[in-house]
Amino acid sequence: MTPLRDRLLDDPFQGYAYAYPHKTAYRHFEKPHPLKDLWADEDKDRLFLYLHLPFCEMRCGFCNLFTTTNPRGGQVSRYLDALERQADAVHDALGTFRYSRGAIGGGTPTFLTTDEMARVFRMLRAAGGLRKGIPLSCELSPATSEPEKIAQLREEGVTRASIGVQSFLESETRSLGRPQKPAVLHAALQRLKDAAFPVLNVDLIYGIEGQSVATWLQSLEAAMEYTPQELFLYPLYVRPLTGLGRKGRDPSDLRLEQFRAGRDFLLERGYRQISLRLFRHRDCPVEGDGGPSYCCQEDGMVGLGAGARSYTSAVHYCTEYAVGRVGIQAILDDFIGRPANDHSFAWYGYELNLAERKRRYLIKSLLRSDGLDEAAYADWSGNSWELDFPQLNELLETGLAIREQGALRPTLEGLERADTLGPWLYSDVVETRMEEYELA
Ligand code: SF4
Repeated sequence: MTPLRDRLLDDPFQGYAYAYPHKTAYRHFEKPHPLKDLWADEDKDRLFLYLHLPFCEMRCGFCNLFTTTNPRGGQVSRYLDALERQADAVHDALGTFRYSRGAIGGGTPTFLTTDEMARVFRMLRAAGGLRKGIPLSCELSPATSEPEKIAQLREEGVTRASIGVQSFLESETRSLGRPQKPAVLHAALQRLKDAAFPVLNVDLIYGIEGQSVATWLQSLEAAMEYTPQELFLYPLYVRPLTGLGRKGRDPSDLRLEQFRAGRDFLLERGYRQISLRLFRHRDCPVEGDGGPSYCCQEDGMVGLGAGARSYTSAVHYCTEYAVGRVGIQAILDDFIGRPANDHSFAWYGYELNLAERKRRYLIKSLLRSDGLDEAAYADWSGNSWELDFPQLNELLETGLAIREQGALRPTLEGLERADTLGPWLYSDVVETRMEEYELA
């Protein structure tokens, strides 16, 4: 592991550790794992359900998510058929289980028609666990936030609507490779505000070519009109095979300055910083929202759909991963054509030994403002973090974390450096696999 001090000399934006290990470290298993075996000894009482709908009206220049545009020849309907087959096989393998939270993501779920979405909700409810009333999130884009779709989400019990805005300035969204009319955007946001979801989340991006600190703050100011309970502020990363990557574009040099300006802007307006990216208003009803608690460090996740990950404590798995159009299309075709029995196995993913599980626990904890609960970690791991990862003392020495009230907590500087700390905590095996993937 490179000493943290050396890494701090580099650009703070080194990699987004939103999941560990990253999908690019996944590989085909030597032998497929039957899902029944993988889930047999897991606690299945508070699972997270993630359902992936990989369709969008256009491909944004910055996007490296698993999604496609302009599905033809009934592809959406055939995809939903496959999803049903997969849901049946997975739930059969799970046996007795309960979902405590859910999310419908993509792609752009609201790219689907209301009839198609009605089918998705029937499938979720029929799954036996996703009851109405438990927290359920859904992503939307401005162009697909039509009144009837918003009404349907509200009616179906969606508690969190998350809209990808990225910027309120037309010139900036054009520069991102995502043309967007301000009138369409404002109308969509007003409808979402009027629909009064318990949580409205707005995604914004900084580091866009041509975006100044002043225009970045202009976007934040514009977002305030719609009183979102949450905002995700994403630093722009330009990755290979994306539209911006193919054009050889780079993020601007202003990312750190813009992040700090955005953070201070939101802190002054009653938002709390939860992580580098997430800001939540202090009045946001996320705690006590009616669902059983879900602990992201330990609880399992069931992913349905091509590109959706599933997590047991020792194995993470999903379909293969691709960013380029041809690769995505091949994976989608494979998913659509799979016989039901194939969905009863995990074919591709990562087997986490105890050391990797501990790393994951640390990464999921230390990159959030709550930090690492020292007693909870010791209880779970059987060791203190000092014994397992003495190198974390560097966080204290560099002022990126402090110890208080039984937790190892990132300071403001530590949160600002989350995209340095995440990759610093990766194991050598994961790092090597990720590099191999990038080179392939
Ligand atoms: S950023 Fe969102 S809307 Fe744009 S292509 Fe990616 S998934 Fe689709």
